[in-house]
Amino acid sequence: MPAAGRPADDVVTVLTDARHGDADWRHGRTFSLIYHSGDPELEALLERVAALFAHDNALNPAAFPSLRRLEKDVVSATAELLGGRPEAGCMTSGGTESILMAVKVARQDARRRGVQHPNVVVPATAHPAFAKAAHTLGIEERRVPVGQDLRADVAAMEGSVDDATAMLVGSAPCYPYGVVDDIGSLAALARARGILCHVDACLGGWLIPFMVDMGRSVPPFDFTVDGVTSMSADVHKFGYSTKGASTVLYRDRDLLGLQHFVFDRWPGGQYGTPAAAGARPGAPIATAWAAIHHLGRAGYQRLARRVLDAFDAFTAGVDAIDGLAVTGEPDFPSLQISSNDPAIEIGGVADIMDDRGWHLDRQQGGLHLMLSPYHATVAEQFLADLRLAAQNASASRARPATYGGVE
Ligand SMILES: *Cc1c(COP(=O)(O)O)cnc(C)c1O
Repeated sequence: MPAAGRPADDVVTVLTDARHGDADWRHGRTFSLIYHSGDPELEALLERVAALFAHDNALNPAAFPSLRRLEKDVVSATAELLGGRPEAGCMTSGGTESILMAVKVARQDARRRGVQHPNVVVPATAHPAFAKAAHTLGIEERRVPVGQDLRADVAAMEGSVDDATAMLVGSAPCYPYGVVDDIGSLAALARARGILCHVDACLGGWLIPFMVDMGRSVPPFDFTVDGVTSMSADVHKFGYSTKGASTVLYRDRDLLGLQHFVFDRWPGGQYGTPAAAGARPGAPIATAWAAIHHLGRAGYQRLARRVLDAFDAFTAGVDAIDGLAVTGEPDFPSLQISSNDPAIEIGGVADIMDDRGWHLDRQQGGLHLMLSPYHATVAEQFLADLRLAAQNASASRARPATYGGVE
């Protein structure tokens, strides 16, 4: 704790310096965490809007009616994209909180049916936020291995369902492999059992509708599918707002009501919150609104075109490199690169890519890529480096003693 404060300019200088070691996302060198639109005008707008709402708090909508209106608009835009109801959802701080709320609703719904110890059944590829939610809420999560095609194995999931099952989960798409689960079958199973079905469209909710507009075919995954009862969709991913903006949507307001918390035995007065947070920053709500209204459908379609260009260039380019392949058949530009040649160790490829300034996330079976519009501009450079990395990683693997010696 500094004894005395220092001038604002000094503080900004120190903070600017502090960022020097951070990921170079502006030049397309990172593949997760930031969803880079490559649109400087949008970026400048978000910064202006974030500053405008920097101090505001959405905890009390009566005090900030503007935030209540903006949140309603963001929720209804998302609902319109996903075939949902405009009045049956809210904004949260991110996908994790949206999922926490959907799992809480499932628990409450099961309890009102007399199930005291509910469980949720999810595919192995579902985001860890489901495990975290189950852990936090004191319920059981059952993770079921996926099929050969890396999609949820609906028959195997059915085998894990019992009388205490509150909800089934599918992803549109899952993060590790970018495949969309068979939501139609999952939702039909949930309906037949009289339980809930959540679709995690944190990634896909704000991109798949525009990919479809651009002519891609993606299996149905939203509220137009009978039996889907809730969805999560992050505006801070392919909605291109600043961080802290997600939505959770329900088929009807009755389910949303199970999410709310109201407490009236506090000397401070009646306290109610729609989701997990108390104080809620105004800036992410406002930047989500600003991105949606600046881009409009046409803007999102233009950016989806760029993402698809990157998706096509990267997948074709990776598959053309000897010894490397895209894992499975991703529906969505979130994918894994793996080695199909025992002489190429994928970790060695990652090391060389790191040395060349690319930051690839390492997952269990390979390297992960999440493609944003900006990546269309670096595809050629990336693929040239990846080809070199594959060649050199295989060469170093031929001298295993060197590696062994170092280890
Ligand atoms: C990012 C993501 C989440 C979690 O969202 P956060 O915003 O990081 O909390 C959940 N599911 C999927 C598929 C995701 O990609």
